[in-house]
Amino acid sequence: MARRVLRGIVVSEGLAAGSAFVVGTPEIRAEERRLLPAEVEPELARFERALKRVREDVRAIETESRDSLGEKAGIIATYQAFLADDTHLLDPIRHAIGKDRWSAEAALVRRFREVVTELARLPEPLPSRVPDLRDIERRLLGRLAGVEAITRLDRAPRGVIICADDLSPTQTATLDPARVLAVITDRGGATSHAAIMTRHLGIPAVVGLGTLIESVRPGDFLMVDALAGEVIVGPDRDELEGFLERARRIQESTRSVELGRGRVRTRDGEEVAILANIDSGEGAGGLRELGVAGIGLFRTEFLYIGKRVAPDEEVQTRHYAALLEAMGRRPVTFRTMDFGADKWHHRIGAGEEPNPALGLRSIRLSFAHEDVFRAQIRAMLRASVKGRPRILFPMITDLAEFRRARAIVQAVAAELRAEGVPFARSIPLGAMIEMPAAALCSRAILEEADFLSLGTNDLTQYTLAVDRANPLVSESYQPWHPAVLHLVRTAAQAARRADKEISACGEMAGSERLIPLLVGAGVRHLSMAPSRISGAVAILRRLSAKDCTRLVQAMIRDGDGERARRRFDDFLSSLAA
Ligand code: PEP
Ligand code: MG
Repeated sequence: MARRVLRGIVVSEGLAAGSAFVVGTPEIRAEERRLLPAEVEPELARFERALKRVREDVRAIETESRDSLGEKAGIIATYQAFLADDTHLLDPIRHAIGKDRWSAEAALVRRFREVVTELARLPEPLPSRVPDLRDIERRLLGRLAGVEAITRLDRAPRGVIICADDLSPTQTATLDPARVLAVITDRGGATSHAAIMTRHLGIPAVVGLGTLIESVRPGDFLMVDALAGEVIVGPDRDELEGFLERARRIQESTRSVELGRGRVRTRDGEEVAILANIDSGEGAGGLRELGVAGIGLFRTEFLYIGKRVAPDEEVQTRHYAALLEAMGRRPVTFRTMDFGADKWHHRIGAGEEPNPALGLRSIRLSFAHEDVFRAQIRAMLRASVKGRPRILFPMITDLAEFRRARAIVQAVAAELRAEGVPFARSIPLGAMIEMPAAALCSRAILEEADFLSLGTNDLTQYTLAVDRANPLVSESYQPWHPAVLHLVRTAAQAARRADKEISACGEMAGSERLIPLLVGAGVRHLSMAPSRISGAVAILRRLSAKDCTRLVQAMIRDGDGERARRRFDDFLSSLAA
């Protein structure tokens, strides 16, 4: 195997070496080939075998989903109808193989193309079945090529490196760190939710590789350097030995850092609280032992993703209560569901949008589906007696929007009171600052909000108009940009004046490189994926908050990305010296 190096964006740091497990059906090139007479019978048999396997696959999906068939039932019925349609779909393919002597792939692609064209011309709902038909075509081509479409990652064998074009949030939700050494993809950006999830699970990940799927075959041996952003296919022996030694050293130094009581002091004595982000439904685990000051962000939408049945009020109440109990007196910040953009979830029921990041996402979606939102708030209030919850609203623009969300909480509280259901008297309500509008209006928001939380992922995306999940523009995704720092500092100053807490919970808060900027902008609460805590603690202990403040002031004064970047690089070099 010839050695090759692919370069991408690091989204979750670490080193791993192992064999490639290619996920999904790679684009299969249909062999447009004419058969020799002797090949016709075997080719027909090959087609029938592939058809049988795909029918079995669909049956397996049906059996697995039996308890929650609901919306899936219609889709499965469509698949089964297509797969049983001898006259219209399958016989013409058999004919093209048997009589016209086309290879199975060529016969299949041609017939599917014709049927898609016919369907598209018919009245609704038939044209909307086209994606189902395409999926069947892909499955058949996959089976002909001996490749299976794999959707659940918890079925991956142990000790593999997941290679994919991209991972959906649902797939990422089934990642099992006990099985998976690393995740590498062709697409995706540093703050996509797949990235956040791998970071949360502590699985090294590199995205945006671009040519991975065309360069890697299942079983290829890979070295993933998710520090430098490199994937080496077919490394040589010496290289591998050096790499494994490096991995061992990093693991040891990470273990030796420990946190204490959730507060760290900078070199010049400023106290910074360390909180944890929880991005999945699995609960608090060992967070208390790790010593965090609390949960700064629980992305509750991950309770929905990957589940066959949307969690109802009861399920949510149990989950929230368990988390609160596990954290004892330490606060748990429940962010209300933040669906939309790359965290799309069909169960909430919104339609496809041309521009989802600017569309009906997040709190807007909650307002549009108030029943789902209310059920979530009811669950949070009912669980509130178990600990110290805080409720955080995502994507708030201004005070009016915050008030609207708060009014719903108050209405739900009144409802529970009338029902005689107990809940905590005072639950702090906060607003995420993740849009420039909110940062600029933070003083007014703080008139009524109890705390603020900076979502630097979206704040960067919306300030610089750069899609956080698009590798084509990842160069322009610059959380250190003076414009972003200006907004962060504006909100931090407003919070300080109002004597209220502001924390940062975007990926910046767990980035060893970017933490100096948050400290310099006046943020003293950082919430991050547990896997990032040891690195963050180590860097905070080496920082002077005063130097960071001067740095951020100067970068904002620079007012230019390039100038500010150079200044920032110099600062980082002096820190490393
Ligand atoms: C953010 O935008 O920084 C944030 C924390 O929210 P999410 O990444 O879930 O959009
Ligand atoms: Mg956000």
